[in-house]
Amino acid sequence: MASDLQNQAFHDDRKAREALEAIRWPDGPYCPHCGNSNQEKIAKGEGKAHRPGLYYCAECNGQFTVTVGTVMERSKIPLSKWLFAMHLMGASKKGMSALQLQRMLGVTYKTAWFLCHRIREAMTPKTRGPLGGEGKIVEADESHFGGKEKNKHVGKRNKKNIGGKGKQPVFALVERDGMSHSFHIANVSGKTLRPLIVENVSRKSSLMTDEGGQYYHVGKEFARHETVNHSEDEYVRGNAYTNTAECRFSLMKRAVYGTHHSISEAHLPRYLNEWDFKWNTRKLKDGERATLIAKGIEGKRLTYRPTH
Ligand SMILES: [Zn+2]
Repeated sequence: MASDLQNQAFHDDRKAREALEAIRWPDGPYCPHCGNSNQEKIAKGEGKAHRPGLYYCAECNGQFTVTVGTVMERSKIPLSKWLFAMHLMGASKKGMSALQLQRMLGVTYKTAWFLCHRIREAMTPKTRGPLGGEGKIVEADESHFGGKEKNKHVGKRNKKNIGGKGKQPVFALVERDGMSHSFHIANVSGKTLRPLIVENVSRKSSLMTDEGGQYYHVGKEFARHETVNHSEDEYVRGNAYTNTAECRFSLMKRAVYGTHHSISEAHLPRYLNEWDFKWNTRKLKDGERATLIAKGIEGKRLTYRPTH
């Protein structure tokens, strides 16, 4: 998807539909009902009698458009706004609040809120391969989101928000020069962290952590386990550092406190998905990132309602 803000697909629904069809159907349309992709058995509805972008499948006699089976299905939001929102969210380094999106798209807050969360959902990969491997280093680190109660605005105290009551522990695994996964965890303990580490990191990797006891046993399951002693200000010793993971956390914190101010605990995993996506696609151009989001819309529908 061209990332130029003048991109006509961001302003013209017909162009937006064509762009989305080109992204989702590079080899021509396929029927989401029966899987038919034989172009001779698919006909496009032409003329004013048909809904725009409607196709007919001769195999199952079904009808479909490019949004069937995606987060956009039955959405009343114009396709051009969907694509513009994907571009804006994919391109913003520090994240984008629903309020910002509301202003930039000229939609209601509720609409912007839905767009934000659906696009976050589209950023979530369907499968995630293990991090690391032979000769690779994977850093594991945890951090806490949420500030001290007394520093909060009175109205924000004691609410179940990140930035409100209680710090929420977040755990991140980062392959050095590679991908990253992060998780909202119940607590920082070996029992909680071990399954996440062994399920997501190849045992052939070197594991790099701080000296916390939570990593002591699981570290033995890996080819190597090196630790950094943060308490003695020993942050960097040759290859032994967890700065990559710390860099991830500082980016996330800037997004929480700078852009969103506070986020609800219930939605924290969706924000983590967004930040993982941003990190994992950091070498892509904005347009390539927006295309990935548009491809990720398949089979993801949200059922929950806004909380405010
Ligand atoms: Zn069909």
